[in-house]
Amino acid sequence: MIVTFPDTTAGPVHLSLKPGSLTAALGRHRVDTWDAGGRWLGGIRDGRYYRRGLDHRMVAGLVGTRPARRIEREAADLVLARVQSETAALVEDLRTRVPASGTVVALRDAAERFLAFTATQGPAEHAADAARFEALYGGPVPAVPGELYRVVYLQSTRGCAWNRCSYCTLYANVPTSVRKGLTWLQHLDEVARYFGPALDMRRTAFLGDADAFLPPQEVLLDQLRAIPTRFQFAAVDAFGAPDSVLRRQVTDLIELRNSGLRRVYLGLESGCVDLRETLSRREPLRDVQSAVERLAEAGLSVGLTVLVGVGGSAWADRHLHDTTEVLRRMPLGVQDVVSLSPYRPFEGAEGAGDARSPDALPLDEAERELDKFKRALETVWPSGGPRAAPYDLDAFVC
Ligand code: SF4
Repeated sequence: MIVTFPDTTAGPVHLSLKPGSLTAALGRHRVDTWDAGGRWLGGIRDGRYYRRGLDHRMVAGLVGTRPARRIEREAADLVLARVQSETAALVEDLRTRVPASGTVVALRDAAERFLAFTATQGPAEHAADAARFEALYGGPVPAVPGELYRVVYLQSTRGCAWNRCSYCTLYANVPTSVRKGLTWLQHLDEVARYFGPALDMRRTAFLGDADAFLPPQEVLLDQLRAIPTRFQFAAVDAFGAPDSVLRRQVTDLIELRNSGLRRVYLGLESGCVDLRETLSRREPLRDVQSAVERLAEAGLSVGLTVLVGVGGSAWADRHLHDTTEVLRRMPLGVQDVVSLSPYRPFEGAEGAGDARSPDALPLDEAERELDKFKRALETVWPSGGPRAAPYDLDAFVC
């Protein structure tokens, strides 16, 4: 439902109410979105767009450009403080200037409920809400493929059993564990309680952390089957380690698909055997290929992550060539995704393993390289293949 309120202090405001979210637009220059829990999720101010994660991280960029960049906490809090006072003014306008009649009143009342938290609570209270969110997962949500915007993260496993890739520190100090039985059900209940009515805007769940296929088949099946007892998601996606996928037969994977799993994301990172070796990847390239084939045979969609720019300019040509050739040999279609992730070393990073983290391309070159990968993939599937989607960990908000 979209209604325009012509007479507010700042000018005409268009309110758009969707399941679980509210967006207010004053022209194209001031836009805000809140979820049904009243949390500000982002918007536009002064030619810049902002996206705020539930963990209180914020990214920003110039409207119409990419990439977005994470902004410092102090700057994010200034944005939030401004949004708070403008939201409070909007609430006051809706109360005092909107004529009381019919659907307009219904929308105004709904809008007031959506706006109440941001209108009355500032950055400190938003940070406290973020602490509640992080407590669900024992810390920030580490990673979700970038094209899965605003998913609900469900942590069926913790950590990474390998934990030695030279470019990754995501799970450096996280012991591996599996949530099963009552622990899993409690986790689902806590997540459902945190989101409350804001769940309505989130259609996909993502099973983290690094390998949802780590537990035995029966445990994973129980985890999947419990999800619809608490939520109504259109799809459930997950990260999977190729060797964990390959421990399962096609019939097992079909069972997982029938229990709600839609897409499995595997770390290809590069199709260049020698470069993968320097990255200390666990599995040989042929295992990634076999896992993709088995998932495809079971009718599951596949997501493949590729680290664009990893190794720096010394590897750039071989990385692009070999990765394109490996992808060409895989049975990928329109239901699949190739997530192109610009590689940036973690701050002060030594890799999670013994090796030093690999070289990276400078930022602007990495952007150009990303375009090269996209164009190369278009030549592999000129009449439609897997979607090439940017997957920028630095700009990730959940
Ligand atoms: S990139 Fe490597 S170390 Fe990091 S989560 Fe994936 S498998 Fe584990």
